[in-house]
Amino acid sequence: MMRRSREIRLAARPMGLPDRQAFATACVDLPCPAPGEVQIRNRWLSIDPAIRGRMFAAKSYIPPFEVGDVITGPAIGEIVESNDPSFIIGDMVLSDAGWREYANLPASDVEMLPSMDLPPQAFLGIAGITGLTSYAGLMRVAELKHGDVVFVSAASGAVGSTACLIAKMLGHKVIASAGGPEKTAFLRDELGVDVAIDYHAESNMRKALAIAAPEGIDVYFDNVGGPFLEAAIGCANDHARFAICGMIAGYNLTEPMAAPRNMTLIPVKRIGMKGFILFDHLDLMPAYREKLAEWHGEGRLTWRETVIEGLDNAPQAFVDLFSGGNIGKMLVHLP
Ligand code: NDP
Repeated sequence: MMRRSREIRLAARPMGLPDRQAFATACVDLPCPAPGEVQIRNRWLSIDPAIRGRMFAAKSYIPPFEVGDVITGPAIGEIVESNDPSFIIGDMVLSDAGWREYANLPASDVEMLPSMDLPPQAFLGIAGITGLTSYAGLMRVAELKHGDVVFVSAASGAVGSTACLIAKMLGHKVIASAGGPEKTAFLRDELGVDVAIDYHAESNMRKALAIAAPEGIDVYFDNVGGPFLEAAIGCANDHARFAICGMIAGYNLTEPMAAPRNMTLIPVKRIGMKGFILFDHLDLMPAYREKLAEWHGEGRLTWRETVIEGLDNAPQAFVDLFSGGNIGKMLVHLP
């Protein structure tokens, strides 16, 4: 049957911080899925800082959106029509359908949700590529080892909070930074980090980090860059390892982000600094999910979500990532 579906498209390439004008809503009529295709009704949309990178025309590790494109990205939905034997109506699936109500996709681009005892949206967060980013960054990129002191920035966000949780479950001292007392309370009381720094209340991150970790840090999980990276370099022990996951402080700048002023310390301290992209570490997913199931069985998993209702609010949810409008994974729920 023909179905009317609303979708959010890129309307214009923003300069600086995007606003809702960068997006437009459109209506399309979807035909029945062709042979080999399924039709998905989206229920949960992943709202990610990486979308900002795809709004530039320049090629990155993932192709940019063209003006007029649907904002695609991870989504959880339900099969409502199937023209492929691998799926039946009612199956809950993960796809890259993005910000739209319905999508027809090749069955080969759609993945059945794993049978773990978790709510479906957890597969966009802790049990999905978000959680894998945290796990890969700590275990493979930073080569976390016994006794390491770990610093995580944007620690109350989706990737950061899972990184804190994993490092705590593995017995590490964890220093976490986030903006505001509600976030630091979450980090301390729910994730159990050793010191939570409210960077809104600090004029000098380097000093705050030095007080939190007088013994120095061995691993830095960078989500922010800028002054947080500079503080981490300043407080790093010899042979510290930095997993550079993202630099959100720079995503909306119209000039290149200023480099840390203390970069000469990198060779002095023999700091290993490695950027990474989760797509290079998808092979770790089975090991990560196995570990996650074990932790879940032991009742040790805890996470937060910020849920915004309705497709029309997806652009605002995205913009709010840049002013700290979320604790845990930012999600849009579709009725
Ligand atoms: P988050 O859930 O962490 O949301 C973004 C958070 O960043 C906000 O809540 C805000 O928290 C913080 N923030 C925003 N702007 C600034 C700023 N100027 N200075 C300091 N903090 C800021 O998003 P994700 O967990 O999805 O992503 C976290 C990071 O990981 C991003 O840099 C992202 O690009 C990166 N990433 C990288 C991947 C990879 O493969 N390498 C994969 C997925 C994400 P607060 O209130 O504390 O400021």
